[in-house]
Amino acid sequence: MNIKRAVQFRKHIKLSHQWQRLRYCRACGSYTVLPEEPCSGCGSQSFVTLQEYAATLNKRLFYTEALVLAAFLGVAALAARDFLELGIALLGAAVVIALYVVLKKHFRTSEEIFRLQKITERHMPSIREGLLKDALSAGEDMKNDRHKEAYEKLREVGSLLTIEHIKNLKIMCLNQLIIRKDMELELETLLPAAYNKEFITYLYEVSKVNKSLIRQSVLDYLLTHRLRIEQLPFGKELMSNAAVASLRMRPYIERFYPVILDYMDSLPKERFLRLCKLVNGATSGPLARLQQACREAAKVRYGFDPDVQAIWQEG
Ligand SMILES: [Zn+2]
Repeated sequence: MNIKRAVQFRKHIKLSHQWQRLRYCRACGSYTVLPEEPCSGCGSQSFVTLQEYAATLNKRLFYTEALVLAAFLGVAALAARDFLELGIALLGAAVVIALYVVLKKHFRTSEEIFRLQKITERHMPSIREGLLKDALSAGEDMKNDRHKEAYEKLREVGSLLTIEHIKNLKIMCLNQLIIRKDMELELETLLPAAYNKEFITYLYEVSKVNKSLIRQSVLDYLLTHRLRIEQLPFGKELMSNAAVASLRMRPYIERFYPVILDYMDSLPKERFLRLCKLVNGATSGPLARLQQACREAAKVRYGFDPDVQAIWQEG
């Protein structure tokens, strides 16, 4: 049996666009999202960001355009037959240059975005190949029992490549580590398309330390696979933890109420009180059904508890 390790993940930098994670190797044209690693294509470290690469291409284009413009103006000046025509040609050149500079400045941002789009479209096969090589590098780490390092790499890859295989590898890594509240954890981004015991094992660990990560999509997953999950040794405890997590928001309660009904007896008093307050006064639908069940449970469990009894008196 593997012994789980206690680790602290490196901070995952939030970016406004995921493509900003991409690094381009100027030496061989490979892509990576792992800038600390040498290039998997040529071994060099000469990476630039996609934005820097786009800026270089734009600069090259600017020089080419400027050269063509200068050539035209030179021809116009040489063709002048007297000083008047030369003056007109020079004046025209000044106007054209000024216009060119103004237009360049005005359209700079949209030109950069256009350039980035073009690069990502044209380089898509290389980008995909680069990401898969990064995933292979993480696979090597996993083989060598370096699950923290592997997970950190897969987290970068998974930001751009949201395929089941990457999710599964991330879950495998996480299940080799001790899951703590102070860790930067993910959950919804790992949701598999089908029943997945490895994911449910990880979800159980998360449900013990950070219930705030259990949101609507996770609750829906638990509802879909409830019967199978409850057959697992920790299945009922997981459903009970999820019932507690669902009490954070009214829409969650409305959706998850069949489980809340069945696990009401396992709710801690403070959570039970919250549920009573939330459903108090409901006249129809799941909340009314829960209210009825809460009143009955309150009589049995907290018949002489003034905190609980006060809720119904207020209502
Ligand atoms: Zn390279």
